[in-house]
Amino acid sequence: MPEVNIAGSKAAVVRRGDYQAPSYQVSEVALDVRLDPDNTEVHTRLQLHRIAPEPVAELHLDGESLELLGLQRDGQALAESAYRLTEGGLLLLNPPEAFILESRVRIHPRANTALSGLYHAGGQFLTQCEAEGFRRITYYLDRPDCLARFTVTLHAPQDSCPVLLANGNCMATGVEEGGWHWARWEDPYPKPAYLFAMVAGDLAVVRDRYRTASGREVALEIYVAERDTGACAQAMDSLKHAMRWDEEVYGREYDLNRYMIVATDSFNMGAMENKGLNIFNAKYVLASPETATDSDYQGIESVIAHEYFHNWTGNRVTLRDWFQLSLKEGLTVFRDQEFSADQNSRGVQRIGDVRRLRAAQFPEDAGPLAHPVRPDAYSEINNFYTATVYEKGAELVRMIHTLLGKVSFRKGMDLYFERHDGHAVTIEDFIAAMEDASQRDLSGFRRWYGQAGTPVVQATGSYDPARHSYTLTLHQETPATPGQPVKEAVPIPVRMALLNTQGQRVPLEVVGGASETVLLLEQSEQSWNFANLPGPVIPSLLRGFSAPVRLQDSLDNDAHGFLARHDDDPFNRWESMQDLAVKALLAAVADSSVAPLPVTLRNAVAATLADRQVDPAFCAELLTLPGEDYIGEQMSVVAVEAIHRARDGMKRAIGRHFAKEWTGLYHDLAAAYQRDGLSIGRRRLRNLALAYLIAGEGSSREGAILHARQQYIQADNMTDRLVAFQLLAQHRHHDAEDVILDFYQRWHEYPLVIDNWFAIQAAAPYPKTLRQVEHLLVHPAFDWRVPNRVRAVLGAFAANPTVFHAADGSGYTFFAEQIRRLDDINPQTAARLATPLSRWQRYDAPRQQAMVAALKILAAKPGLSRDLAEVIQRSHPE
Ligand code: ZN
Repeated sequence: MPEVNIAGSKAAVVRRGDYQAPSYQVSEVALDVRLDPDNTEVHTRLQLHRIAPEPVAELHLDGESLELLGLQRDGQALAESAYRLTEGGLLLLNPPEAFILESRVRIHPRANTALSGLYHAGGQFLTQCEAEGFRRITYYLDRPDCLARFTVTLHAPQDSCPVLLANGNCMATGVEEGGWHWARWEDPYPKPAYLFAMVAGDLAVVRDRYRTASGREVALEIYVAERDTGACAQAMDSLKHAMRWDEEVYGREYDLNRYMIVATDSFNMGAMENKGLNIFNAKYVLASPETATDSDYQGIESVIAHEYFHNWTGNRVTLRDWFQLSLKEGLTVFRDQEFSADQNSRGVQRIGDVRRLRAAQFPEDAGPLAHPVRPDAYSEINNFYTATVYEKGAELVRMIHTLLGKVSFRKGMDLYFERHDGHAVTIEDFIAAMEDASQRDLSGFRRWYGQAGTPVVQATGSYDPARHSYTLTLHQETPATPGQPVKEAVPIPVRMALLNTQGQRVPLEVVGGASETVLLLEQSEQSWNFANLPGPVIPSLLRGFSAPVRLQDSLDNDAHGFLARHDDDPFNRWESMQDLAVKALLAAVADSSVAPLPVTLRNAVAATLADRQVDPAFCAELLTLPGEDYIGEQMSVVAVEAIHRARDGMKRAIGRHFAKEWTGLYHDLAAAYQRDGLSIGRRRLRNLALAYLIAGEGSSREGAILHARQQYIQADNMTDRLVAFQLLAQHRHHDAEDVILDFYQRWHEYPLVIDNWFAIQAAAPYPKTLRQVEHLLVHPAFDWRVPNRVRAVLGAFAANPTVFHAADGSGYTFFAEQIRRLDDINPQTAARLATPLSRWQRYDAPRQQAMVAALKILAAKPGLSRDLAEVIQRSHPE
């Protein structure tokens, strides 16, 4: 029978409003899989029954890149007249009310470089079924509202695949002829196909146990390559902490006797929450002090927790359709952010989360790819695993949490689980549970889910000395986004306080004397009056970044300088510091005669450096300059080179002016490696000091280079070593080449470390980097089939402002050629990497032309994937 091939087919648009309940349900699925890298055979037995009230003329089963070998209904070969193969699968004609369908298909795991469905990589068989990968394994109702019980029997050669895993419980194993063996797994929980997983390979396992609050024992198993068994401690600890946290904070226990995690180098995303069998990008599992940085450790903690939390928010309660994606992702990101805040410093965690939101989501929301947290249409759902669905989605849940308070929010979550456990539901169901449990009306809040764009909030205030009162006026407006020209006001919780001239919060009469409150801005403009104040005040607005908006606060530099020193809200203190830096940088960009280190900023830096109370991690955040992209975001046309020059100049000035302080910090903070929060913060501040010393000029710079070289050689951990490597490799120092070679030789057996080696070279801010990146792409260790490696080079390249956006357009042309090549191998990763080109409207005319030309190169590619086609089409519609 013919192979079904969708490449080149026209992409249909799927619309939220067109949702239709399935006409049939599957109650049982039994898979029998004979694993072979080139020709795997999948035998599927489905028990189907009609749920539509009337008989239907046809039932569609999804299927993609499947070679059909045989089809039976209720034990009889299916007549040719009873089915039809289509572009997207299989149509069963006039299906009976209930029947058993058996299919046999052949698939090709080794050739599956898209890493969706069943694939063979690094000697292992792995699956990835979210969002629509299961249809690349067998014919099925591949939609999240189809929940069924799965049994799977895996067969494979015993020597190459001693380990055979799937969801749920292992029921039986056995050996068979020819050195093969088999294992049968059964998952007692009905689930949608996107949560299906199987794994086979030669894997070692690290085991631990967990006792749930109610006293059940759970076996914890992390599967990795034999040589990596010593690098799983952080993942295992994080898992146990996450399990405890979900019991304590949400009252949710784990529900199977086994929790398995498999690590692979070949994965499109961070990790996947398959029921009882998570599959992880190795980056979020493996860590040892010699190979992983402090932020790698942090990433493991948060991603392990994220996937674990999905067991309730995503798996037990799942999605009705893919438009509801944020129902599980936004909620689960909110949960993992709160978990990390509880494990570490809440203030520093919040700053990092907002930094990420602003770096990825704000630009997305302001460009042609803008879409609501609950999108209205897609042609390829894989393109909607976005910062908007994840990070803005988490902010929306956070705002509900802020509005309801902890206790009501928890009641709302309890009600949500009570009502919907075992079901496939919508964002609307989540909001309704929150409303019913709290007796609050969230009708205005629903607009946040349906409206794209980042609201701009303008704040003006004045103190009236005669009346001893302060009046605050807030105004909101959301800019138009593609397809949504007119925007309505949304409810915006603005957490705030008023500080007196000593920096203390003053009691607010309107809220019974409390010194902090949440104002709810619901209309386009509202005012509040705070009476009976003891004297003049400075407002601290949007504390903790209480809403995902752009705040324009009309405070002058003196007020920000004051807040940068005195605000007791860590986020706002940091924000004021950023604000001072951004204003100074924008002034320097506009007029190169302006001093790069104005006195207010200099004083704020001096005060921060002199403040012995401040936690070193927070201190490092305060002293880190905003990135070039963020500065560019504040301009109508991004001035690529001028921003780079201004920021470099400011780094140099801060380095030079505070050379004594930086040198002191660098020496005082030296310590043997430890992994507690304080040590991590001290390491971070010390490495920031080193970076400033190297950025500065003169004798302290020469000394700092010696320190960096020493640190590179002597470091007892990867955090210190990598910072030193980056500083030496990127600062055009004469022995940069030697250091680059040396690093490779030391670490070439550790792919995650070598990813950093590639990325740091691709991120070097010099014109010659383009040539360097060309070399990297033909380096023996470069592999187009491994997404981490491709992202290390092309992702870092596209995030390198002066090189990617080189004025002659060379960066864009080069980039488009690489994406074109990648699209044939891995469309999902190609489409994701291509998104920086969508921001062409932010640049000057010559760059716009060159970026559009690059998009056109891509659009003209023969066999363009649906993934990339959609990104290009939305980036430049015409
Ligand atoms: Zn997730």
